[in-house]
Amino acid sequence: MLASLQLALDQRKADGLLRQRRLLDSPQAEHIIANSKPYLSFCSNDYLGLANHPDLIAAMQKAAGDSGVGSGASGLVTGHHRYHDDLEQQLAAFVKLPAALLFSTGYMANIGVLGALVGRGDAIFADKLNHACLNDGGYYSLAEFNRFTHNDVTALETLLKVSTAKHKLIAVDAVFSMDGDLAPLPEYLALCEKYDAYLYIDDAHGFGVLGEHGEGSLNHFKLKSPRIIMMATLGKAAGVAGAFVAGEKVVIDYLIQTAKSYVYSTPAPPALSATLSASVKLIAQGDELRTHLHGLIAYFKANLHCKKWQLMPSITAVQPLIVGGNVEAVKLSEYLQAGGILVPAIRPPTVPKGTARLRISISAAHSLDDVKALINAIHQAEQVL
Ligand SMILES: *Cc1c(COP(=O)(O)O)cnc(C)c1O
Repeated sequence: MLASLQLALDQRKADGLLRQRRLLDSPQAEHIIANSKPYLSFCSNDYLGLANHPDLIAAMQKAAGDSGVGSGASGLVTGHHRYHDDLEQQLAAFVKLPAALLFSTGYMANIGVLGALVGRGDAIFADKLNHACLNDGGYYSLAEFNRFTHNDVTALETLLKVSTAKHKLIAVDAVFSMDGDLAPLPEYLALCEKYDAYLYIDDAHGFGVLGEHGEGSLNHFKLKSPRIIMMATLGKAAGVAGAFVAGEKVVIDYLIQTAKSYVYSTPAPPALSATLSASVKLIAQGDELRTHLHGLIAYFKANLHCKKWQLMPSITAVQPLIVGGNVEAVKLSEYLQAGGILVPAIRPPTVPKGTARLRISISAAHSLDDVKALINAIHQAEQVL
């Protein structure tokens, strides 16, 4: 086995697909120290700049002092601390859904929820560009797994029309992680009503960024229905770690009994929940941060004039610049890095073949000068590459 692992690694390297981790020696922020060098970074999902916020650092220190550092037992034994419970209630109220349940990560939430809510005889309808963990959750659930062309409402309806599944669940990213565009959620909800289906949305990149006060994609579209179940991660705009699922009380009660990645796993430390409670408050009061962030996004889109490479129709903090070839995307990323700017090149299989790209993520922690520096560097790169 070891020899075949080595062979597979060598092959990846030969194909230019071997991925290497950068070593971070600073907090996650817009200016970081990576591999011992300072960079201006457009890499993180810390869209509001909360990962290193002094109020949250203080909240974590205080909570560690009064709740310790570990949960010590699964949630159904003695691991469900008041800090977890308070956060669940706070999150449900914030997204205006009846109840919420915490998971240790978004990956575990998607696997746990899909595995619990649907199974043999049921069907999942999934966008082809969904995040990997929605695919894994789908396979794990044993439900029939139907994938439809990205954001194609007609293709989805064609599948729903002929489905004889007992329970039907449409499962989609609300904001696509590598494209930054939104799913047509109002149209999907209408299909749910027409075909007696349910809508599971993964709002990893909408929570904190979209909505009147950062509530996320549901609020952005003003959607409300007992057919909706939402998941959002807490390690992105919320700046900490973890995830939550929110929906009807019966859904959450059922997940507490049956979602294996909840039942058979130790909850994240209560101190993290206390930190997240402070973070959700900052998100709710973060209109200025969001105004600044959306101003930077609009400036970037209006002032980047590239002929070789194309931006996508994204209004979110995820701004992909499509380069095409793998080698070309890596070259552009390396050129920017040599000038002190880090932007990751994303290649297949994370994105479809022929659409290798820079995934530029803009944060409220960036200044207008930071964004101007990025625009200038990309314009220079276009002249020399
Ligand atoms: C990051 C991400 C996840 C996974 O969340 P983690 O908390 O990082 O495990 C799930 N779905 C989408 C769309 C994501 O971008």
